[in-house]
Amino acid sequence: MYDLLIKNAHIVTVNAQRQVIFPGAVAITGDTIQAVGKTGDFEGAEARRVIDAVGSAVFPGLVNTHTHLFQSLLKGLGDDRPLSEWLVTATLPSAVQFRETEIHTSAVLGCLDALHSGTTTILDYNYCHPVPGLGDATVQGFRDVGIRAILGRGMTVAGERFGVPPEMRSTPDRVFADFERLYDAYHGADNGRLRVWLAPGSVWGNTPEALRRARAVATEVKTGITIHVSETPWDRQSAGLVHEGRSDFGALAAYGVLGPDVLLVHCVHLTPEEIRLAAESDVKISHNAVSNMYLASGVAPVPAMLRAGLTCSIGTDGAASNNTQDMIEALKMTVLMHKVVTMDATALTAEKVLEMATIDGARSIGMGDLIGSIEPGKRADLFIFDPSTTPRSVPMHHPVSSLVYSGGAGNVVTVIVDGRVLIDGGEAVTIDERAFLARAQRISAALAERAGTAELVRSRPWRALPQKNDRP
Ligand SMILES: [Zn+2]
Repeated sequence: MYDLLIKNAHIVTVNAQRQVIFPGAVAITGDTIQAVGKTGDFEGAEARRVIDAVGSAVFPGLVNTHTHLFQSLLKGLGDDRPLSEWLVTATLPSAVQFRETEIHTSAVLGCLDALHSGTTTILDYNYCHPVPGLGDATVQGFRDVGIRAILGRGMTVAGERFGVPPEMRSTPDRVFADFERLYDAYHGADNGRLRVWLAPGSVWGNTPEALRRARAVATEVKTGITIHVSETPWDRQSAGLVHEGRSDFGALAAYGVLGPDVLLVHCVHLTPEEIRLAAESDVKISHNAVSNMYLASGVAPVPAMLRAGLTCSIGTDGAASNNTQDMIEALKMTVLMHKVVTMDATALTAEKVLEMATIDGARSIGMGDLIGSIEPGKRADLFIFDPSTTPRSVPMHHPVSSLVYSGGAGNVVTVIVDGRVLIDGGEAVTIDERAFLARAQRISAALAERAGTAELVRSRPWRALPQKNDRP
């Protein structure tokens, strides 16, 4: 007797053979995928619940390897500005205002947005918090929704000269003490759904000693490190001012920080030699195409990274530079970005970007043996994609093409994390979404007033561009 049997669907397994089984079935008991095969193989099998997914496709849950969930309340405040201005006028003034209610609301909102787009695992990269205890409120948000999550404990111990406000900086001792507390409380908790990593904010915002200490602590407690690297040329130059002329990547290499348990975020401006070194050390990459386009940071050399043997995953980045947590949207944007910049329609494919968002995403966070594909023995993290819920995705000739090029969150009817159904019939199960969204709108409006960012919106000009023969 299985707990759940999904049958008659296209099963896009992303297993080693990359099998797509049709008409296929997946059987789940507890938190685990018990069996995968042709629907006919399950004749007579009993299950507490059977989902007849005829006409639909089943995919492994998507893995979002980089976001900042607190930004879920900041959507649209910093649009159409360069990164430095976006950070100083919209994002940091809000970040210093966050208290428990806001951070919890923000985490739940971001996780719900992620879930609706088939995301089952999310890595939340906290900035340093202005007051203690906000990491705990974020974890409560993960728990309330039920998503699989990594909390990246932020670390910024310097960076005053680059405009980092005092509330967002901390001493290494305070950072590591809080990291250890969070690690002891939550790492491996909730049936292993929660993990705690170290997340130094940047290379220019940290000292050599702090970065080396992060490496030593991560090795000691066997957890991961994630850090922004070379998002813009400015990051590289600023690192040079603090780290004896080295680029941010060069400094991490020099301090012995790099390794298979390190996830570098962005890497838009790595040199070919740095890509070679990155592949040699087996670091992992989080590619955030939407955010890189939104902030005009540039195009990460993903095809070259893949050729070099690097594991590349997909992140949305925070909702202040995206402005959603929609991973299906990110899939399409990622593929199209690399096609156009290389003028090569085969530079990235629907299949490759799906791998990046599933199995490669799982490997990027050290969970390749647990999640990222639909195989017996793996955790039951998956979603059902029904093309018939929206005209945009009919007809479905091939499930991977449909998901990447004509799919949307509106097609995601069922989402399962750790064997628990969290989205059912397109509706969130664990949260009263209608009431919650109304509250999130009120809380974000109050926060914007307090942070002074509401004024940015009230005074937002109609930013048309100069144009000959301008007409109203
Ligand atoms: Zn980021």
